[in-house]
Amino acid sequence: MTASLFSDDSQWVTRFAPSPTGSLHLGHVASAFFARQHAGQDGRFLLRIEDIDTTRCREALIGEMLDDLAWVGLRWEGTVLRQSHRMPLYRETLDTLQKRGLIYPCFCTRTDVAREAAASGSAQHHAPDGSLIYPGTCRHLTDAERTQRTDSGAPYALRLDVKTALLHVAAPALTYWEQGRGLVPCRPEAFGDVVLARKDIPASYHLCVTHDDAAQGVTLVTRGEELRAATAIHRLLQTVMGWPEPVYAFHPLLRDATGKKLSKRNGALSLRTMREAGMSPREVRQAAGVAI
Ligand code: GLU
Repeated sequence: MTASLFSDDSQWVTRFAPSPTGSLHLGHVASAFFARQHAGQDGRFLLRIEDIDTTRCREALIGEMLDDLAWVGLRWEGTVLRQSHRMPLYRETLDTLQKRGLIYPCFCTRTDVAREAAASGSAQHHAPDGSLIYPGTCRHLTDAERTQRTDSGAPYALRLDVKTALLHVAAPALTYWEQGRGLVPCRPEAFGDVVLARKDIPASYHLCVTHDDAAQGVTLVTRGEELRAATAIHRLLQTVMGWPEPVYAFHPLLRDATGKKLSKRNGALSLRTMREAGMSPREVRQAAGVAI
């Protein structure tokens, strides 16, 4: 690789963290190289497979992904971390949060949440990521009610008590540092009490991504700008857990000629298909807009 591949000479630790829910397409190539190039020539670039969602992830895709990424010219350091192998570690973090009174069990179904949100009278029902803001129903249960429901075997998720967690933030406010933009204020309360462990999967995206970025020593988190808003929740978790604060950089999403986000659902060509059609790795990188 030549020096011109890199955005600057700094030595960041970055990572690419795809979820094996579909074959890789040009959007993934752009995102992976964005992370690689932001590590700087002497930085470290890691690969992590985010496969906690057993309802959507496919084991067979993982080998294909690694092969495609190596084929297109991506090189990463060390072993590839798999989140599905790390559930006991996420459990430890949940236990810590539980002991400090920062999470609570939520027995609500999706229908309950939609009904309660509509009945709450709040004008704002949706979080910045489009999800419904949880109206806090189960936050108000007494210890006896919680014990009675868990003992009866009712399934529950674990939610972060955002207002209580915010009490752990030293004044003046929660912020993050974005490359090229500077200090950005965060409002995690706009998300409401997010789920940190689902009923069907004992950990959630927000929990695992912040846990592992800290565990792997990631100093510069790069991701698509559609995930920018979630940084507020991530900074809150990092603060209450005492994890280091990374710097952030976001990339625009690759769009097709009609302006739609590239995705398998929208018929984006997979890397596999491009390989089979005889495209070279260089041509694929070029098509993804990677500076080569
Ligand atoms: N695994 C996430 C995805 O594929 C991205 C991880 C991150 O937040 O950077 O969308």
